[in-house]
Amino acid sequence: MAEKVSREIRLKHRPEGLPKESDFELAEAAIPEIGDGEVLVQNIYMSVDPYMRGRMVDRESYVPPFQIGMPLEGGSVGRVIESKGGPFETGDYVLGMLGWREYFVSGGEGLTKIDPGLAPMQAYLGTVGMPGLTAYAGLLDVGNLKEGESVFVSAASGAVGSIVCQIAKLKGCYVAESAGSDEKISWLLEEAGIDVAFNYKTTDDIVAEVGHRCPKGIDVYFENVGGVHLEAALEHMNIYGRIVMCGMISMYNAVEPVPGPANLFYVITKQLTMKGFIVTEHFDKLQQFYADMGRWIAEGKIKWNETIVEGLENAPQAFIGLFKGANFGKMIVKIGPDPAD
Ligand code: NDP
Repeated sequence: MAEKVSREIRLKHRPEGLPKESDFELAEAAIPEIGDGEVLVQNIYMSVDPYMRGRMVDRESYVPPFQIGMPLEGGSVGRVIESKGGPFETGDYVLGMLGWREYFVSGGEGLTKIDPGLAPMQAYLGTVGMPGLTAYAGLLDVGNLKEGESVFVSAASGAVGSIVCQIAKLKGCYVAESAGSDEKISWLLEEAGIDVAFNYKTTDDIVAEVGHRCPKGIDVYFENVGGVHLEAALEHMNIYGRIVMCGMISMYNAVEPVPGPANLFYVITKQLTMKGFIVTEHFDKLQQFYADMGRWIAEGKIKWNETIVEGLENAPQAFIGLFKGANFGKMIVKIGPDPAD
């Protein structure tokens, strides 16, 4: 009988600057027979996320680097197609961290059963998954958001940013945003119900624009981008303001050290708090997050977009697209058949 194989994407070279498709390779690996207590999972959707760029660099960090010649990893949802005992049955849908491949065998570690009846399966990689929790824990716990405050969010139409801004609106805040296209701005204003938003790519003076859009200053800045966005926020932060350091995507492909903002001194004079966080340290809030997010979605108070790229072979292109704003909402790659289609 022919050996069963799984296609997978491996890291071929560590990228220099913006990753190129030639930094990745499509390969095939034999699917091992499953043993007692194991399952064979067919992935249906996989996530590409900005943090994966950091794992392509050979350095110590909060997660180990990807290895050359080995398949990449990341969030995925799939279906158990074979099971030999253990906690999962054939037909179960599971969320795990072995994306970038069509099939995998697992003893169940790191897998969570999901209910595709509660939300579309791919939403477990976005709004009701890691990016949604990042927005929820980052804004409410790290940012200690209070009712009625003035909030500024960068990369606001993305997986994290679009949820941050809607939670801030639910908390009665004034919310200003920046994003990289007029279409994204229209969605934020008309669908997500944000107060003001601007296209930073067509704005000459981002620092002045943020001041203009936040006439009462900024109490909480949710940082996704870095660079001039951080400088603009610092310039207009209110005294005792909080900066939630979630991500700095504008720096992820830098080949030289990037200078810090020239006005960092405002952290002292305005007595600001800048606090970084990693979402995996906030998994204790998952049950509260599911309860709140489930209710908000059921009430029609949270909306989201997805950009779904078809085919495992196109996963590198989808990943690279994150750094060009090619995604509108969560960037997802469809790599297997979805029974809901
Ligand atoms: P997004 O869905 O927001 O996708 C990335 C977006 O960033 C792009 O669509 C693009 O939108 C914008 N962008 C890309 N390059 C630049 C640039 N040079 N300047 C300004 N904007 C840029 O990604 P996520 O929501 O998944 O992640 C958002 C941020 O949150 C990232 O920095 C990520 O690293 C961070 N993060 C942190 C976590 C944590 O635990 N701390 C967990 C998850 C994410 P546009 O069209 O607007 O330019």
